[in-house]
Amino acid sequence: MPRIDNDIKLDFKDVLLRPKRSTLKSRAEVNLIRNITFRNSKQTWSGIPVIAANMDTVGTFEMAKTLAKHKCFTTIHKHYSVEEWYEFALHNKEVLDFVAVSSGTSENDWQRLQMILQKIPEARFICIDVANGYSEHFVEYVRRVRKSFPDHTILAGNVVTGEMVEELILSGADVIKVGIGPGSVCTTRKKAGVGYPQLSAVIECADAAHGLGGHIISDGGCTCPGDIAKAFGAGADFVMMGGMLAGHDQSGGDIIERNGKKMKLFYGMSSAVAMNKYAGGVAEYRASEGKTVEIPYRGNVEDTMQDILGGLRSACTYTGAGKLKELPKRTTFIRVTQQTNEIFSSNTSEK
Ligand code: 5GP
Repeated sequence: MPRIDNDIKLDFKDVLLRPKRSTLKSRAEVNLIRNITFRNSKQTWSGIPVIAANMDTVGTFEMAKTLAKHKCFTTIHKHYSVEEWYEFALHNKEVLDFVAVSSGTSENDWQRLQMILQKIPEARFICIDVANGYSEHFVEYVRRVRKSFPDHTILAGNVVTGEMVEELILSGADVIKVGIGPGSVCTTRKKAGVGYPQLSAVIECADAAHGLGGHIISDGGCTCPGDIAKAFGAGADFVMMGGMLAGHDQSGGDIIERNGKKMKLFYGMSSAVAMNKYAGGVAEYRASEGKTVEIPYRGNVEDTMQDILGGLRSACTYTGAGKLKELPKRTTFIRVTQQTNEIFSSNTSEK
């Protein structure tokens, strides 16, 4: 007989952060930098734990250069060649602390990963990314990477439940990527009927990871800076974004004109567009679980980053968290039935 879990699981849209009395005078007093020591690599990292996703219109070298100026991180997509990586590393040494080399779990991915890491010893982060992090094959790949690269920090996912977070950490991963189905261009919930509301996934997975001295990334589902603040409040150590960073100059791809409006193409890494572009390069099990959309061109990502980091500082000020690290301790979520007043939502700017 199928079991039904009757506990209510929540998404970002179901809650708001409750304001709390605080001694902070201004947003400028808030420190968003975190100093993290990773459980298995034993390495340390210092920066603002906001991550650009390893999608080919988001996790670009150009994005990494801009985000690194803000001490933010980019998981570089896996479709750059070894030569392109080498070229980038040669001219951007200072950015290498803020990027990860992405890998799937195929033999090709393994060869490519080894070549990049051998050529660029300063690249210290590896992101092992599959749509479904529950397979034994994936766990074995994580073990294999850990064995070959004992001092590299391994990000791995995606999963949404505590027991799998624990298994991956015990298999050698340092930071577990959490999220199945919340992404802006993800159709897994429609195609497969599988998923987990992101806020609850983060709360539960953070608890599991922190119990072992590991860390997590909340991956997907952030639609505005407030959602990022909620993910950190829920216990995420890092928050990864795709859609919120798409459509910018740094996103690659051409600008398209539609009825006089400038647009850019954005698509899931398992969409038909990505599959066609990298035919043979995208693993079969991810087939077509992604959308393709045209989104308004948004200019330089600098402005968007200011908006995001400003929002985060504001969340910390309202809740009385002097440091981003303190946000979960200061967080009380209120369940709500409405997020915002929509009366003027159709024709106003966000700013
Ligand atoms: P967003 O920030 O746009 O809501 O979510 C970004 C995340 O969506 C990515 O980091 C990745 O985990 C996930 N994603 C990207 N492309 C696809 C896809 O084609 N299918 C699915 N299921 N998820 C995707």
